[in-house]
Amino acid sequence: MSRPRIVIVGAGFAGYRTARTLARLTRNKADITLLNPTDYFLYLPLLPQVAAGILEPRRVTVSLTGTLPHVRLVLGEADDIDLDARTVRYADPEGGVGTLTYDRLVLAAGSVNKLLPIPGVAEHAHGFRGLPEALYLRDHVTRQVELAAGSEDPKSCDARCTFVVVGAGYTGTEVAAHGQLFTDALVRKQPLREGMRPRWILLDIAERVLPEMDERLSRTADKVLRQRGVDVRMGTSVKEATPNGVLLSDGEFVDTRTLVWCVGVRPDPLAESLGLPMERGRLLVEPTLQVPGRPDVFACGDAAAVPDLTKPGQYTPMTAQHAWRQGKVAAYNVAASLGRGAPEPYRHSDLGFVVDLGGVKAAANPLGVPLSGPVAGAVTRGYHLAAMPGNRVRVAADWLLDAVLPRQGVQLGLVRSWSVPLDTASPELARMPGAPEKVKEKAKTKADAEKSPTTSPGRERGPSEDPHEPVEGSGGES
Ligand SMILES: Cc1cc2nc3c(=O)[nH]c(=O)nc-3n(C[C@H](O)[C@H](O)[C@H](O)COP(=O)(O)OP(=O)(O)OC[C@H]3O[C@@H](n4cnc5c(N)ncnc54)[C@H](O)[C@@H]3O)c2cc1C
Repeated sequence: MSRPRIVIVGAGFAGYRTARTLARLTRNKADITLLNPTDYFLYLPLLPQVAAGILEPRRVTVSLTGTLPHVRLVLGEADDIDLDARTVRYADPEGGVGTLTYDRLVLAAGSVNKLLPIPGVAEHAHGFRGLPEALYLRDHVTRQVELAAGSEDPKSCDARCTFVVVGAGYTGTEVAAHGQLFTDALVRKQPLREGMRPRWILLDIAERVLPEMDERLSRTADKVLRQRGVDVRMGTSVKEATPNGVLLSDGEFVDTRTLVWCVGVRPDPLAESLGLPMERGRLLVEPTLQVPGRPDVFACGDAAAVPDLTKPGQYTPMTAQHAWRQGKVAAYNVAASLGRGAPEPYRHSDLGFVVDLGGVKAAANPLGVPLSGPVAGAVTRGYHLAAMPGNRVRVAADWLLDAVLPRQGVQLGLVRSWSVPLDTASPELARMPGAPEKVKEKAKTKADAEKSPTTSPGRERGPSEDPHEPVEGSGGES
Protein backbone atom coordinates (compact mmCIF):
# COMPACT_ATOMS: atom_id res chain seq x y z
CA MET A 1 0.00 0.00 0.00
CA SER A 2 1.30 3.50 -0.83
CA ARG A 3 2.14 5.89 1.94
CA PRO A 4 -0.75 8.09 3.04
CA ARG A 5 -0.45 11.75 2.03
CA ILE A 6 -1.08 14.24 4.79
CA VAL A 7 -1.34 17.91 3.86
CA ILE A 8 -1.18 20.59 6.55
CA VAL A 9 -2.24 24.10 5.54
CA GLY A 10 -0.52 26.72 7.69
CA ALA A 11 2.66 26.51 9.78
CA GLY A 12 1.68 28.61 12.77
CA PHE A 13 1.25 27.34 16.31
CA ALA A 14 -1.29 24.69 15.34
CA GLY A 15 0.12 23.57 11.98
CA TYR A 16 3.75 23.54 13.10
CA ARG A 17 2.94 21.36 16.12
CA THR A 18 0.81 19.04 13.99
CA ALA A 19 3.65 18.58 11.51
CA ARG A 20 6.28 18.05 14.18
CA THR A 21 4.19 15.53 16.12
CA LEU A 22 3.07 13.66 13.01
CA ALA A 23 6.64 13.34 11.77
CA ARG A 24 7.50 11.65 15.04
CA LEU A 25 4.39 9.45 15.13
CA THR A 26 4.47 8.21 11.55
CA ARG A 27 8.26 7.72 11.35
CA ASN A 28 8.52 8.14 7.60
CA LYS A 29 5.48 5.92 6.96
CA ALA A 30 3.48 8.89 5.65
CA ASP A 31 4.17 11.78 3.28
CA ILE A 32 3.73 14.93 5.32
CA THR A 33 3.47 18.16 3.36
CA LEU A 34 3.33 21.56 5.04
CA LEU A 35 1.92 24.36 2.89
CA ASN A 36 2.82 27.84 4.14
CA PRO A 37 3.52 31.19 2.46
CA THR A 38 6.74 31.70 4.43
CA ASP A 39 9.59 29.33 5.23
CA TYR A 40 9.31 30.05 8.95
CA PHE A 41 7.09 29.62 11.96
CA LEU A 42 6.37 33.03 13.51
CA TYR A 43 6.29 33.38 17.28
CA LEU A 44 3.61 36.09 17.30
CA PRO A 45 3.62 36.92 21.04
CA LEU A 46 7.04 38.58 20.68
CA LEU A 47 6.03 40.75 17.72
CA PRO A 48 5.55 43.91 19.86
CA GLN A 49 9.22 43.60 20.81
CA VAL A 50 10.18 43.58 17.13
CA ALA A 51 8.20 46.79 16.58
CA ALA A 52 9.89 48.37 19.59
CA GLY A 53 13.39 47.53 18.34
CA ILE A 54 14.23 45.08 21.13
CA LEU A 55 14.32 41.97 18.95
CA GLU A 56 15.58 41.73 15.40
CA PRO A 57 12.89 40.24 13.14
CA ARG A 58 14.58 36.91 12.43
CA ARG A 59 14.72 36.19 16.14
CA VAL A 60 10.98 35.57 16.31
CA THR A 61 11.04 33.16 13.39
CA VAL A 62 11.88 29.47 13.42
CA SER A 63 13.04 27.85 10.19
CA LEU A 64 10.59 25.18 9.02
CA THR A 65 13.07 23.15 7.01
CA GLY A 66 15.68 23.50 9.75
CA THR A 67 13.45 22.11 12.48
CA LEU A 68 11.06 19.75 10.67
CA PRO A 69 13.39 17.26 8.95
CA HIS A 70 10.80 14.70 7.81
CA VAL A 71 8.28 17.21 6.55
CA ARG A 72 8.15 18.53 2.99
CA LEU A 73 7.68 22.30 2.87
CA VAL A 74 5.71 23.70 -0.04
CA LEU A 75 5.89 27.48 -0.20
CA GLY A 76 2.53 28.93 -1.10
CA GLU A 77 -0.95 29.96 -0.07
CA ALA A 78 -3.94 27.66 -0.47
CA ASP A 79 -6.67 29.39 -2.43
CA ASP A 80 -9.03 26.58 -3.31
CA ILE A 81 -9.79 23.32 -1.56
CA ASP A 82 -11.87 20.65 -3.28
CA LEU A 83 -13.10 18.42 -0.47
CA ASP A 84 -14.58 15.81 -2.80
CA ALA A 85 -11.56 15.53 -5.07
CA ARG A 86 -9.27 15.83 -2.01
CA THR A 87 -7.08 18.50 -3.56
CA VAL A 88 -5.61 21.78 -2.36
CA ARG A 89 -4.74 24.36 -4.98
CA TYR A 90 -2.14 26.93 -4.07
CA ALA A 91 -0.13 29.78 -5.51
CA ASP A 92 3.56 30.07 -4.78
CA PRO A 93 5.27 33.39 -3.92
CA GLU A 94 6.14 33.98 -7.58
CA GLY A 95 2.60 33.46 -8.83
CA GLY A 96 2.99 29.86 -9.97
CA VAL A 97 0.08 27.54 -9.26
CA GLY A 98 0.20 24.00 -7.92
CA THR A 99 -2.10 21.31 -6.59
CA LEU A 100 -1.59 18.96 -3.67
CA THR A 101 -3.54 15.74 -3.30
CA TYR A 102 -4.26 14.44 0.17
CA ASP A 103 -5.62 11.49 2.11
CA ARG A 104 -5.81 13.60 5.26
CA LEU A 105 -6.03 17.37 5.43
CA VAL A 106 -5.31 19.57 8.45
CA LEU A 107 -6.48 23.17 8.16
CA ALA A 108 -4.52 25.52 10.40
CA ALA A 109 -4.51 28.80 8.48
CA GLY A 110 -4.88 31.03 11.56
CA SER A 111 -6.47 34.47 11.48
CA VAL A 112 -6.22 37.93 9.92
CA ASN A 113 -6.87 41.51 11.13
CA LYS A 114 -10.45 42.24 12.10
CA LEU A 115 -11.99 45.35 10.56
CA LEU A 116 -14.97 47.38 11.71
CA PRO A 117 -17.05 49.48 9.32
CA ILE A 118 -15.59 52.80 10.50
CA PRO A 119 -14.91 55.42 7.83
CA GLY A 120 -11.26 55.82 6.93
CA VAL A 121 -9.93 52.96 9.06
CA ALA A 122 -9.17 50.58 6.19
CA GLU A 123 -7.25 53.39 4.46
CA HIS A 124 -5.39 54.99 7.36
CA ALA A 125 -4.87 52.33 10.02
CA HIS A 126 -2.34 49.53 10.13
CA GLY A 127 -2.84 46.15 11.72
CA PHE A 128 -0.48 44.15 13.85
CA ARG A 129 -0.75 40.55 12.75
CA GLY A 130 2.47 39.82 10.88
CA LEU A 131 6.17 40.52 10.68
CA PRO A 132 5.86 43.07 7.83
CA GLU A 133 3.44 45.15 9.93
CA ALA A 134 5.79 45.07 12.92
CA LEU A 135 8.72 46.15 10.74
CA TYR A 136 6.63 48.87 9.18
CA LEU A 137 5.61 50.18 12.60
CA ARG A 138 9.18 50.24 13.89
CA ASP A 139 10.34 52.27 10.89
CA HIS A 140 7.28 54.50 10.83
CA VAL A 141 7.53 55.39 14.53
CA THR A 142 11.27 56.08 14.21
CA ARG A 143 10.63 58.29 11.19
CA GLN A 144 7.89 60.26 12.94
CA VAL A 145 10.20 61.06 15.85
CA GLU A 146 13.05 62.00 13.50
CA LEU A 147 10.78 64.27 11.41
CA ALA A 148 9.30 65.82 14.55
CA ALA A 149 12.73 66.50 16.04
CA GLY A 150 13.75 68.38 12.89
CA SER A 151 10.50 70.27 12.50
CA GLU A 152 9.95 73.96 13.23
CA ASP A 153 6.20 73.57 13.34
CA PRO A 154 4.88 72.68 16.82
CA LYS A 155 1.56 71.41 15.46
CA SER A 156 3.20 68.98 13.06
CA CYS A 157 5.66 67.92 15.73
CA ASP A 158 2.79 67.19 18.11
CA ALA A 159 0.86 65.19 15.50
CA ARG A 160 3.89 63.13 14.52
CA CYS A 161 4.62 62.29 18.13
CA THR A 162 1.08 61.22 18.97
CA PHE A 163 0.52 57.49 18.45
CA VAL A 164 -2.97 56.03 18.70
CA VAL A 165 -3.49 52.34 19.40
CA VAL A 166 -7.04 50.99 19.18
CA GLY A 167 -7.83 47.84 21.12
CA ALA A 168 -6.57 47.15 24.65
CA GLY A 169 -6.34 43.37 24.37
CA TYR A 170 -2.91 41.82 24.86
CA THR A 171 -1.66 42.99 21.46
CA GLY A 172 -2.69 46.65 21.78
CA THR A 173 -1.62 46.81 25.43
CA GLU A 174 1.84 45.45 24.64
CA VAL A 175 2.24 47.67 21.55
CA ALA A 176 1.41 50.82 23.56
CA ALA A 177 3.50 49.79 26.58
CA HIS A 178 6.57 49.00 24.47
CA GLY A 179 5.88 51.93 22.14
CA GLN A 180 6.10 54.52 24.90
CA LEU A 181 9.45 53.15 26.07
CA PHE A 182 10.73 53.00 22.49
CA THR A 183 9.85 56.61 21.61
CA ASP A 184 11.13 57.88 24.97
CA ALA A 185 14.44 56.21 24.13
CA LEU A 186 14.44 57.81 20.67
CA VAL A 187 13.84 61.34 21.97
CA ARG A 188 16.62 60.98 24.51
CA LYS A 189 18.99 60.98 21.54
CA GLN A 190 17.15 63.61 19.50
CA PRO A 191 15.10 65.81 21.84
CA LEU A 192 11.85 67.32 20.62
CA ARG A 193 10.95 71.03 20.86
CA GLU A 194 10.65 72.47 24.33
CA GLY A 195 10.98 69.15 26.11
CA MET A 196 7.94 67.67 24.36
CA ARG A 197 7.37 63.98 25.06
CA PRO A 198 5.86 61.48 22.63
CA ARG A 199 2.33 60.53 23.58
CA TRP A 200 0.81 57.08 23.16
CA ILE A 201 -2.98 56.84 23.45
CA LEU A 202 -4.59 53.45 24.08
CA LEU A 203 -8.31 53.27 23.32
CA ASP A 204 -10.88 50.58 23.83
CA ILE A 205 -14.63 50.51 23.91
CA ALA A 206 -14.35 48.15 26.91
CA GLU A 207 -14.28 49.42 30.46
CA ARG A 208 -10.82 48.09 31.28
CA VAL A 209 -7.58 47.14 29.58
CA LEU A 210 -7.17 43.41 28.88
CA PRO A 211 -10.98 43.10 29.04
CA GLU A 212 -11.03 39.37 28.42
CA MET A 213 -8.53 38.53 31.15
CA ASP A 214 -8.49 38.24 34.90
CA GLU A 215 -9.24 41.63 36.53
CA ARG A 216 -6.00 41.50 38.48
CA LEU A 217 -4.02 41.38 35.23
CA SER A 218 -6.01 44.36 33.99
CA ARG A 219 -5.28 46.38 37.11
CA THR A 220 -1.55 45.64 36.90
CA ALA A 221 -1.35 46.52 33.21
CA ASP A 222 -3.44 49.67 33.68
CA LYS A 223 -1.18 50.89 36.50
CA VAL A 224 2.04 50.25 34.56
CA LEU A 225 0.69 51.97 31.43
CA ARG A 226 -0.46 55.07 33.31
CA GLN A 227 2.75 55.33 35.35
CA ARG A 228 4.67 55.17 32.12
CA GLY A 229 2.66 58.03 30.68
CA VAL A 230 0.41 56.15 28.25
CA ASP A 231 -2.92 57.96 27.88
CA VAL A 232 -5.33 55.10 28.63
CA ARG A 233 -8.89 55.88 27.53
CA MET A 234 -11.38 53.14 28.13
CA GLY A 235 -15.00 53.32 26.94
CA THR A 236 -13.74 55.23 23.88
CA SER A 237 -13.45 54.28 20.23
CA VAL A 238 -12.73 55.76 16.83
CA LYS A 239 -15.55 57.35 14.83
CA GLU A 240 -13.52 58.26 11.78
CA ALA A 241 -9.93 58.11 10.61
CA THR A 242 -8.43 60.70 8.26
CA PRO A 243 -4.91 61.27 6.90
CA ASN A 244 -4.38 63.90 9.62
CA GLY A 245 -5.85 62.23 12.65
CA VAL A 246 -8.72 60.38 14.26
CA LEU A 247 -12.11 61.51 15.47
CA LEU A 248 -12.91 59.76 18.74
CA SER A 249 -16.33 58.62 19.89
CA ASP A 250 -16.30 61.36 22.59
CA GLY A 251 -16.04 64.02 19.88
CA GLU A 252 -12.34 64.87 20.32
CA PHE A 253 -10.18 65.03 17.20
CA VAL A 254 -6.64 63.78 17.81
CA ASP A 255 -3.97 64.97 15.37
CA THR A 256 -1.81 61.96 14.58
CA ARG A 257 0.02 60.21 11.76
CA THR A 258 -0.21 56.80 13.42
CA LEU A 259 -3.24 54.60 13.96
CA VAL A 260 -2.47 51.04 15.03
CA TRP A 261 -5.46 48.74 14.74
CA CYS A 262 -5.43 45.98 17.36
CA VAL A 263 -9.16 45.40 17.74
CA GLY A 264 -8.74 41.67 17.33
CA VAL A 265 -8.60 39.09 14.63
CA ARG A 266 -11.02 37.13 12.53
CA PRO A 267 -10.38 33.63 11.19
CA ASP A 268 -8.55 33.32 7.91
CA PRO A 269 -11.09 33.68 5.06
CA LEU A 270 -9.91 30.37 3.59
CA ALA A 271 -12.01 28.55 6.22
CA GLU A 272 -15.15 30.39 5.18
CA SER A 273 -14.64 29.63 1.52
CA LEU A 274 -15.22 25.89 2.10
CA GLY A 275 -18.97 26.17 2.60
CA LEU A 276 -18.85 24.02 5.74
CA PRO A 277 -20.67 24.75 9.03
CA MET A 278 -19.09 27.73 10.76
CA GLU A 279 -19.21 29.36 14.18
CA ARG A 280 -18.42 33.10 13.99
CA GLY A 281 -16.21 32.61 10.97
CA ARG A 282 -14.38 29.62 12.44
CA LEU A 283 -14.72 26.15 11.00
CA LEU A 284 -16.87 24.04 13.32
CA VAL A 285 -15.13 20.84 14.40
CA GLU A 286 -15.79 17.91 16.73
CA PRO A 287 -13.85 17.71 20.00
CA THR A 288 -11.52 15.37 18.07
CA LEU A 289 -10.84 18.33 15.72
CA GLN A 290 -12.46 16.45 12.84
CA VAL A 291 -14.80 18.35 10.54
CA PRO A 292 -18.31 16.85 10.87
CA GLY A 293 -19.17 14.66 7.88
CA ARG A 294 -15.58 14.88 6.57
CA PRO A 295 -13.57 12.29 8.49
CA ASP A 296 -10.50 13.02 6.37
CA VAL A 297 -10.44 16.73 7.27
CA PHE A 298 -9.20 18.21 10.57
CA ALA A 299 -8.95 21.84 11.67
CA CYS A 300 -7.30 23.51 14.63
CA GLY A 301 -6.03 26.82 15.97
CA ASP A 302 -7.63 30.22 15.33
CA ALA A 303 -9.34 28.97 12.16
CA ALA A 304 -11.33 26.28 14.02
CA ALA A 305 -14.25 26.53 16.47
CA VAL A 306 -13.21 23.82 18.93
CA PRO A 307 -15.72 22.94 21.67
CA ASP A 308 -14.24 23.82 25.06
CA LEU A 309 -14.87 20.66 27.08
CA THR A 310 -13.80 22.46 30.26
CA LYS A 311 -16.53 25.10 29.68
CA PRO A 312 -19.48 23.31 28.07
CA GLY A 313 -21.30 25.34 25.44
CA GLN A 314 -18.27 27.51 24.70
CA TYR A 315 -15.46 27.34 22.15
CA THR A 316 -11.78 27.62 22.95
CA PRO A 317 -10.46 31.19 22.56
CA MET A 318 -8.04 32.17 19.81
CA THR A 319 -4.77 31.88 21.71
CA ALA A 320 -1.38 30.42 21.03
CA GLN A 321 -1.75 28.17 24.03
CA HIS A 322 -4.80 26.44 22.60
CA ALA A 323 -3.49 26.38 19.01
CA TRP A 324 -0.23 24.73 20.12
CA ARG A 325 -1.98 22.02 22.13
CA GLN A 326 -4.63 21.45 19.49
CA GLY A 327 -1.86 20.87 16.97
CA LYS A 328 -0.63 17.95 19.00
CA VAL A 329 -4.11 16.45 19.38
CA ALA A 330 -4.75 16.91 15.66
CA ALA A 331 -1.58 14.94 14.92
CA TYR A 332 -2.57 12.08 17.22
CA ASN A 333 -6.05 11.96 15.71
CA VAL A 334 -4.79 12.03 12.13
CA ALA A 335 -2.51 9.13 13.05
CA ALA A 336 -5.49 7.36 14.69
CA SER A 337 -7.54 7.81 11.53
CA LEU A 338 -4.72 6.00 9.70
CA GLY A 339 -4.82 3.09 12.15
CA ARG A 340 -2.29 4.18 14.75
CA GLY A 341 -3.92 4.54 18.19
CA ALA A 342 -7.39 5.74 19.15
CA PRO A 343 -8.79 9.26 18.65
CA GLU A 344 -8.86 11.55 21.66
CA PRO A 345 -10.89 14.70 22.32
CA TYR A 346 -9.21 18.07 22.85
CA ARG A 347 -9.42 19.14 26.47
CA HIS A 348 -7.30 21.85 28.05
CA SER A 349 -7.81 24.43 30.81
CA ASP A 350 -5.98 27.72 30.48
CA LEU A 351 -2.68 27.77 32.33
CA GLY A 352 -2.84 31.53 32.73
CA PHE A 353 -1.54 34.38 30.62
CA VAL A 354 1.56 36.54 30.39
CA VAL A 355 1.59 40.12 29.09
CA ASP A 356 5.00 41.72 28.56
CA LEU A 357 4.85 45.45 29.31
CA GLY A 358 8.45 46.27 28.47
CA GLY A 359 11.40 47.12 30.68
CA VAL A 360 11.23 44.66 33.55
CA LYS A 361 7.46 44.96 33.85
CA ALA A 362 4.78 42.45 32.99
CA ALA A 363 1.40 41.22 34.15
CA ALA A 364 1.09 37.47 34.50
CA ASN A 365 -1.03 34.85 36.18
CA PRO A 366 0.72 31.51 35.67
CA LEU A 367 -1.55 28.73 36.96
CA GLY A 368 -3.89 31.46 38.24
CA VAL A 369 -1.31 33.10 40.53
CA PRO A 370 -1.34 36.87 39.86
CA LEU A 371 2.14 38.41 39.47
CA SER A 372 3.35 41.90 38.74
CA GLY A 373 6.61 43.88 38.55
CA PRO A 374 10.01 42.33 37.87
CA VAL A 375 8.90 38.86 39.04
CA ALA A 376 6.17 38.85 36.42
CA GLY A 377 8.72 40.21 33.92
CA ALA A 378 11.11 37.32 34.59
CA VAL A 379 8.32 34.73 34.47
CA THR A 380 7.02 36.20 31.20
CA ARG A 381 10.38 36.09 29.47
CA GLY A 382 11.11 32.63 30.85
CA TYR A 383 7.73 31.48 29.56
CA HIS A 384 8.38 32.80 26.07
CA LEU A 385 11.81 31.20 25.91
CA ALA A 386 10.36 27.86 26.98
CA ALA A 387 7.44 28.14 24.57
CA MET A 388 9.45 29.02 21.46
CA PRO A 389 10.23 25.96 19.35
CA GLY A 390 13.65 27.36 18.41
CA ASN A 391 15.93 30.43 18.29
CA ARG A 392 15.90 30.79 22.07
CA VAL A 393 19.55 31.67 22.44
CA ARG A 394 19.31 34.46 19.90
CA VAL A 395 16.22 35.89 21.60
CA ALA A 396 17.91 35.77 24.99
CA ALA A 397 21.01 37.40 23.49
CA ASP A 398 18.92 40.28 22.09
CA TRP A 399 17.31 40.77 25.51
CA LEU A 400 20.71 40.91 27.09
CA LEU A 401 21.99 43.40 24.51
CA ASP A 402 18.90 45.54 25.00
CA ALA A 403 19.55 45.60 28.74
CA VAL A 404 23.09 46.91 28.37
CA LEU A 405 23.11 48.91 25.12
CA PRO A 406 20.98 51.81 23.88
CA ARG A 407 18.15 50.93 21.48
CA GLN A 408 19.09 51.29 17.77
CA GLY A 409 17.11 54.19 16.37
CA VAL A 410 17.41 53.68 12.64
CA GLN A 411 14.74 53.10 10.05
CA LEU A 412 15.58 50.95 7.06
CA GLY A 413 12.42 51.89 5.15
CA LEU A 414 12.09 48.43 3.59
CA VAL A 415 8.38 48.01 4.36
CA ARG A 416 6.24 50.87 3.14
CA SER A 417 2.76 51.79 4.30
CA TRP A 418 1.02 50.67 1.10
CA SER A 419 2.58 47.23 1.28
CA VAL A 420 0.93 46.41 4.62
CA PRO A 421 -2.75 47.29 4.10
CA LEU A 422 -5.02 46.62 7.05
CA ASP A 423 -7.54 44.78 4.92
CA THR A 424 -5.57 41.82 3.71
CA ALA A 425 -6.00 38.07 3.81
CA SER A 426 -2.20 37.71 3.94
CA PRO A 427 -0.78 39.72 6.85
CA GLU A 428 2.28 37.44 6.83
CA LEU A 429 3.42 38.84 3.46
CA ALA A 430 4.29 42.39 2.50
CA ARG A 431 2.64 43.42 -0.74
CA MET A 432 5.04 44.13 -3.60
CA PRO A 433 4.46 46.55 -6.47
CA GLY A 434 3.44 44.59 -9.56
CA ALA A 435 3.28 41.31 -7.62
CA PRO A 436 0.76 38.68 -8.72
CA GLU A 437 -2.66 39.21 -7.22
CA LYS A 438 -2.91 37.68 -3.77
CA VAL A 439 -4.42 34.28 -4.13
CA LYS A 440 -6.71 34.44 -1.15
CA GLU A 441 -8.42 37.64 -2.28
CA LYS A 442 -10.89 35.50 -4.18
CA ALA A 443 -11.84 33.47 -1.18
CA LYS A 444 -11.89 36.55 1.01
CA THR A 445 -14.09 38.57 -1.28
CA LYS A 446 -16.53 35.69 -1.56
CA ALA A 447 -16.56 35.22 2.18
CA ASP A 448 -16.95 38.95 2.87
CA ALA A 449 -19.80 39.24 0.46
CA GLU A 450 -21.65 36.27 1.85
CA LYS A 451 -21.10 36.35 5.53
CA SER A 452 -19.25 39.14 7.24
CA PRO A 453 -21.14 42.38 7.77
CA THR A 454 -18.45 43.59 10.20
CA THR A 455 -15.74 43.71 7.59
CA SER A 456 -15.32 46.50 5.12
CA PRO A 457 -13.75 45.87 1.75
CA GLY A 458 -11.30 48.74 1.97
CA ARG A 459 -9.31 50.03 -0.94
CA GLU A 460 -5.77 48.83 -1.37
CA ARG A 461 -3.55 51.86 -1.67
CA GLY A 462 -0.78 52.05 -4.19
CA PRO A 463 2.72 53.36 -3.58
CA SER A 464 1.92 56.89 -4.66
CA GLU A 465 -1.20 57.22 -2.54
CA ASP A 466 0.31 56.80 0.88
CA PRO A 467 -0.93 59.60 3.14
CA HIS A 468 1.65 58.98 5.87
CA GLU A 469 4.82 58.65 3.92
CA PRO A 470 6.70 61.24 1.92
CA VAL A 471 6.97 60.19 -1.70
CA GLU A 472 10.51 58.91 -2.17
CA GLY A 473 12.80 61.74 -3.07
CA SER A 474 10.27 64.49 -2.32
CA GLY A 475 11.69 65.37 1.09
CA GLY A 476 9.85 67.77 3.36
CA GLU A 477 6.89 67.14 5.59
CA SER A 478 3.44 66.26 4.44
C1 LIG B 1 0.78 40.42 18.08
C2 LIG B 1 0.16 39.19 18.65
C3 LIG B 1 0.50 38.80 19.94
C4 LIG B 1 -0.06 37.64 20.47
N1 LIG B 1 0.28 37.29 21.75
C5 LIG B 1 -0.25 36.17 22.28
C6 LIG B 1 0.12 35.75 23.58
O1 LIG B 1 0.90 36.42 24.27
N2 LIG B 1 -0.42 34.59 24.05
C7 LIG B 1 -1.30 33.84 23.31
O2 LIG B 1 -1.76 32.79 23.79
N3 LIG B 1 -1.69 34.22 22.09
C8 LIG B 1 -1.17 35.35 21.54
N4 LIG B 1 -1.54 35.73 20.29
C9 LIG B 1 -2.51 34.92 19.54
C10 LIG B 1 -1.80 33.74 18.93
O3 LIG B 1 -0.62 34.16 18.28
C11 LIG B 1 -2.73 33.01 17.97
O4 LIG B 1 -3.86 32.59 18.68
C12 LIG B 1 -2.01 31.82 17.35
O5 LIG B 1 -0.96 32.28 16.51
C13 LIG B 1 -2.96 30.96 16.54
O6 LIG B 1 -2.24 29.91 15.98
P1 LIG B 1 -2.65 29.34 14.54
O7 LIG B 1 -1.71 28.22 14.27
O8 LIG B 1 -4.10 29.07 14.49
O9 LIG B 1 -2.39 30.56 13.57
P2 LIG B 1 -1.02 31.27 13.19
O10 LIG B 1 -0.03 31.12 14.24
O11 LIG B 1 -1.40 32.65 12.78
O12 LIG B 1 -0.54 30.48 11.91
C14 LIG B 1 -1.27 30.42 10.73
C15 LIG B 1 -0.31 30.04 9.62
O13 LIG B 1 -1.07 29.77 8.45
C16 LIG B 1 -0.47 30.42 7.36
N5 LIG B 1 -1.51 30.64 6.36
C17 LIG B 1 -2.51 31.53 6.38
N6 LIG B 1 -3.27 31.38 5.30
C18 LIG B 1 -2.75 30.37 4.58
C19 LIG B 1 -3.10 29.76 3.34
N7 LIG B 1 -4.14 30.16 2.61
N8 LIG B 1 -2.33 28.76 2.87
C20 LIG B 1 -1.24 28.33 3.59
N9 LIG B 1 -0.88 28.87 4.76
C21 LIG B 1 -1.63 29.88 5.25
C22 LIG B 1 0.12 31.68 7.96
O14 LIG B 1 1.14 32.22 7.15
C23 LIG B 1 0.65 31.16 9.28
O15 LIG B 1 1.95 30.63 9.12
C24 LIG B 1 -1.00 36.88 19.71
C25 LIG B 1 -1.33 37.28 18.43
C26 LIG B 1 -0.75 38.42 17.90
C27 LIG B 1 -1.13 38.83 16.50
